[in-house]
Amino acid sequence: MLFSEPTVALNNGVRMPRVGFGVFRIADEDVEPAVAKAIECGYRSIDTASLYGNERGVGRAVARCGLPREDLFVTTKLWNDDQGREWAPGALRSSLDRLGLDYVDLYLIHWPKPSRNLFLETWQALEQMYASGEARAIGVSNFQPRHLDVLAAHSDVVPATNQIELHPYLQQEQLRAYDTDHGIATVAWSPLGQARALQDPLIGEIAHRYDRTPAQIILRWHLDCGNVVIPKSSSTARMQENLSVLDFTLEEGDLAKVRSLDAGLRLGPDPDEVDIRPKAGFSSDGGQWVGPAG
Ligand code: NDP
Repeated sequence: MLFSEPTVALNNGVRMPRVGFGVFRIADEDVEPAVAKAIECGYRSIDTASLYGNERGVGRAVARCGLPREDLFVTTKLWNDDQGREWAPGALRSSLDRLGLDYVDLYLIHWPKPSRNLFLETWQALEQMYASGEARAIGVSNFQPRHLDVLAAHSDVVPATNQIELHPYLQQEQLRAYDTDHGIATVAWSPLGQARALQDPLIGEIAHRYDRTPAQIILRWHLDCGNVVIPKSSSTARMQENLSVLDFTLEEGDLAKVRSLDAGLRLGPDPDEVDIRPKAGFSSDGGQWVGPAG
């Protein structure tokens, strides 16, 4: 893969930008200007979710940005409460209504939530949405190999992506290898470790040598590993900074240095152990999620 390639081909041929813009924890009233700024900076991929409560604002920004719909890549996610063949189709329709779109580019099952034992039938419902054209690609988020094995044994469509927590302190090497071996693109959520990894002295030392910022070094490391990234920022300058990572690459020795930072440190919930809180975790006023499970 060319280090300057701006998109990656998913397993169905649909192309996804390698650097997208995440909008978790941006309230609906703030997300329209944030996404508008991101699109102005050059982002073409927006990552939202039903959980985030900001699909309407994302949709307004998409409608008003002046770009043809096909130039944008919109991802949203099916929340845990909507799992099951009964609810899943309506969940996508509601998301499309809120987004004001006829289709999404990528629709994900947000968490496997194995305790409900509904992720397989939810996936089979997503296969139908894919067949109907309501989603150009379908994928999963926070799935472990054992969950993916269940899908592989009982369904026809291989997930296009697996969006997982991934940053220098949680590198998930085995899960990434599983994704690669099965033709699943790995998308890194919290790619900057929610800004914590930016303070790391080793990242700072590498950044100094490349005359780049710590965020750029981390994002470049992701791209060099083959990951897609969806950093979030509320500042135009940082949005631009995060997008300016396609014009260089890290040397093997520096990739190894970043690899040495892996500490198995989860900032979000463990997909197997934690029972994710329902949508009621949003406060009624600001639309802010008060739990950890974006
Ligand atoms: P990130 O790793 O993207 O970090 C975001 C934080 O880093 C913010 O505090 C931001 O501050 C700061 N930041 C961003 N860029 C820079 C920079 N260049 N220099 C310094 N600080 C910077 O974490 P998120 O948790 O926001 O994850 C990104 C996206 O991943 C989410 O928005 C969401 O779309 C997705 N996600 C998906 C989950 C899932 O379960 N599928 C779970 C969690 C997230 P500031 O805004 O002030 O710039």
